[in-house]
Order: sequence, then C-alpha cells, then structure tokens
Amino acid sequence: MLALVYKSAWDVALEERPIPEIKKDNDVLVRIRATGVCGTDLGIISGKYHAVPSTILGHESAGDVVAVGSAVSSLKPGDRVVIDPTYYCGQCEMCRTGRQNHCTHKSVTETGVSADGTFTDYYVTEDRFLYKLKDHISYEEATLTEPLSCMLTGINQIHLLPNFTTVIIGAGPIGILYSYALASKGVTGCLVDISEERLAIADSIAPERWSAHATLEAAIHKLAPEKNQVDMIVDTTGVVGTEVLSQLASGGYLMLVGLRDGVSSFNPKEVVDRSLKIIGSIDSLGTFSTAHYLIEQQIIPAQKIITHSYPLDDFHEAFKTLGCNISERTLQPSSQAIKIVLQSNGSGN
Ligand SMILES: [Zn+2]
Ligand SMILES: [Zn+2]
Repeated sequence: MLALVYKSAWDVALEERPIPEIKKDNDVLVRIRATGVCGTDLGIISGKYHAVPSTILGHESAGDVVAVGSAVSSLKPGDRVVIDPTYYCGQCEMCRTGRQNHCTHKSVTETGVSADGTFTDYYVTEDRFLYKLKDHISYEEATLTEPLSCMLTGINQIHLLPNFTTVIIGAGPIGILYSYALASKGVTGCLVDISEERLAIADSIAPERWSAHATLEAAIHKLAPEKNQVDMIVDTTGVVGTEVLSQLASGGYLMLVGLRDGVSSFNPKEVVDRSLKIIGSIDSLGTFSTAHYLIEQQIIPAQKIITHSYPLDDFHEAFKTLGCNISERTLQPSSQAIKIVLQSNGSGN
C-alpha cells in the first residue's frame, strides 16, 4: 500500500509499505477511506512539531472493517467505522488517574505522530477505538469526529454556563468546530480572524446567532458593549496568549488550544484577584462518543466545514491549499480552505 511517510522536516513522500497485520485477538484491520488534514500535520511537515521519522502521518480518519481478531464480537468485515486515534494503555499512572490523553506510552503510540497513521490504505487498531458509522454519514464527514472530540474535551474543563459570552480567536477548522461544540451547549459568541476570506466563510457556516469579526475588540464590543469583557476567550492561533486577560470578566476562562511555541506573560496578582482561569487542552479524553453522536445527528454541519477533498496522491496540492508549500518549504496562513480531507485511493487493493 502507498503511505504518506514523514522522514524529516519538509521531507515527506508516498512510499510503499506492507499492509499491517492483525496481531492481537482484539485487533481490527480497517481499510481507510478518508483522513482529515490537521494543523498538527502541517506542524510536523514544517518541523514545528516533533514526530518520529519514518512514521506514516494522518490521524482523523474513517473507513471499512476488513478483518477482525478472534476476540472481536462487536464489529465484522464490511462495517463502516470512524477511528479514535488517541491510543491509551489503560494501565499507566496517567491512564489510572483519568488522564488517558497523556498516557505515558504516547511517545510511541500516538497515531500519525509516533505510531503509523492513516494517510494510507490500511490501519490496525483495537476494537475499543472504533465506532460504527450510520449509512447517512459519509467517511469525509466522519473525519471531523476526532477534532470535535478534542474541542469537547477542552470544554469539559470549564464550568460552562449557557449565558457565557465567548470569543474564539481564529476562524479556521478548530475555531469553527469550537463554535459548534459550544453552541451545542447553548453558548453564543463571536469568531475573530484577520483574513477577510475566512471571515466570509465563517459568516456563512458559523452556528446560528454566532457572528464573525475582524478584531477582538469588535467582537467583545458586540457581546458586551457596556463592560467590554467576556466570560471566555478561546485562542486557537497560539499567537495571542495571555495578553487578552484584561478582556476577560472576573471568573472568566482563557482556553489555549493553539499548538505554537512562544512566550507569554501575565500578572499573577490579576489572575488571583479576579479568579481568572488559564486552561490548556490537547487531544480527547472520554469525549469521542459524544463527538460521534453530534456528527451522526448532524448537529455539526460537517459537510459545510469540509471545503476541499483530494486523493492521497495529490497531497502536495492539498497541503499547498492549506498554506503549506512542501516544494518551497514555506508555511503561511491560508484563507482558501477550512478543512481538507485526503481520500485513500485503494492502491493496496
Ligand atoms: Zn488532528
Ligand atoms: Zn497509559
């Protein structure tokens, strides 16, 4: 099968790899149909996020069950499934204290980062990481389950009230999915982006009663014209950091989900005195099933969020559309696309 393999920064290529085998009784072999391109993939390719060389990239995926181990009773060949790629052992200190998204084996088990991922034709995982797809949900739509699950994990860390005023910085796929995850809890807010194109897309696909704005100030003014402070700011860009704390109401939350190196400073006295909360969140923790439900019920308009789809062979073009030009070794913000999905083309069949 052909697989998109990470070798080193800016060096990724389609390589022939053997089809993985079922080794354990609870393993399942999945024929991959579609995998979403994630900001993490762009970070890995551009050398900003560490991955293990020689790993197959890709982790937001759906496909068909091809074969099952002898102990698997809930799935059979032909079942359409979405994959939870956040492997955890269940035995380590982190897993046994409710932090499975930080399983101590992550450095060798993280799908598409330190363990072979799904930008290819076949993938083996345990049955506990697979969720059946209803016929009305396409493989492409199902690829949004994993990123949505990460958003729900972030939100679970907040004592959220439906009347929270919320601003999300960055109207890319993470920002849009955060707005829907929050809207599913009754929260209304604003998205902020510096790109006019992204604002136009966000305006057309944002949840009902949500709006898109060019500046943080405009968004905060819209939500809280008198006090000019909001209850929650979600920064998906990694650029803003703690400088926005003064724009939070007392008791408010700053949620940081942009994976980007940087330095940020804050006044501890202000955090204490105004009961502010600064929260980071990565991967998903006990929320995949809820994300699966929200996609299945079409509460999240997955079709609108996926703006482009390419065959895996065209990965250069797909990444370029997202601002990651592999040949020229440049990574720039792109306004052309929200979410892109790569379709596995069956070269291993
Ligand atoms: Zn991802
Ligand atoms: Zn563990």
